[in-house]
Amino acid sequence: MLSFENVCFSYGEAKALDGVSLALKKGELLTLLGPSGCGKTTTLQIAGGFLFPDSGRVMLDGRDVSALPPEKRPTATVFQSHALFPHMSVEENVAYGLRVRGTPRAERLRRAAEMLERVGLDGYLKSRVQDLSGGQQQRVALARALILNPRVLLLDEPLSSLDARLRVRMRAEIRSLQKAFGITALYVTHDQEEALSISDRVALMQGGRLVQVGTPEEVYFSPHGDFAADFIGDAFPVTLEGRRQLLRPDQIVVAADGPLVGTLVSRAFLGASTDWVIDWQGQTLRASVPSAAEPAREIGGEVRFAILPSRDRNA
Ligand code: ADP
Ligand code: MG
Repeated sequence: MLSFENVCFSYGEAKALDGVSLALKKGELLTLLGPSGCGKTTTLQIAGGFLFPDSGRVMLDGRDVSALPPEKRPTATVFQSHALFPHMSVEENVAYGLRVRGTPRAERLRRAAEMLERVGLDGYLKSRVQDLSGGQQQRVALARALILNPRVLLLDEPLSSLDARLRVRMRAEIRSLQKAFGITALYVTHDQEEALSISDRVALMQGGRLVQVGTPEEVYFSPHGDFAADFIGDAFPVTLEGRRQLLRPDQIVVAADGPLVGTLVSRAFLGASTDWVIDWQGQTLRASVPSAAEPAREIGGEVRFAILPSRDRNA
């Protein structure tokens, strides 16, 4: 399908990608995940033909497309900003790519109507895009990309302009559309929860390199190294029985009959859960305590707890 073979790219002197190799399987949604500046957008732009590798290759369906411009590639991109045309109607926005390709008017309007129905926007053909909600605009952006029948759909932080609640709803919607269309997708986000929830596989990036590629469960439960453990699961290091381990806050279970005793250092109420910082024999632990079951504890007071074993599949 789509693959990167040892791709390197620099902006002038600044190296942005340092030997990226990655292969997407047909029909899968693979997410590039990593902190800001790690090279996600650069990778996506190289896939879409907006940038060209300094070295290495991009292959699509067995063909070297490294030097092809966007309009010559069977890819379509949904950008962070959606980049909809505010002066055009919804159907004109969706039909735009077909117009550029010279598709006759009657056919492109028919296909735009069909696509808008598939994304749940029938009835909005003549609406102006600025009159739509954020979620509806998101669906127009998807329809505009999908109408081109791309082999690979590229999405760069498509939900980042939406509020938190809508983001959660739209990620489920993007996922179900991607599956319904059976389309191969390369998705970019810096949000680990979004990546875990939407993906068949996650490719974790740091400093222009891939750190780990695997299913959401693999990268969560068997992180390759401290960066992966911390970025994906908020892990912290602890020495247990003389061995350094990484634990996650949900492995510290506060319970009246817990075998271990520590001191509550601080707590932060987050809504559904409350984060506790516990001092235990000079080590700092973090616990995620369900707020509904949170025991009343004074800062500086005694805390009893247990440590759940790691679910590391490789352990
Ligand atoms: P991400 O999408 O993961 O935030 P980018 O791919 O946008 O990361 O950027 C990777 C690196 O390249 C960063 O260090 C960034 O500052 C740099 N960079 C991105 N775009 C440009 C540009 N147009 N000119 C110079 N440096 C850039
Ligand atoms: Mg980016």
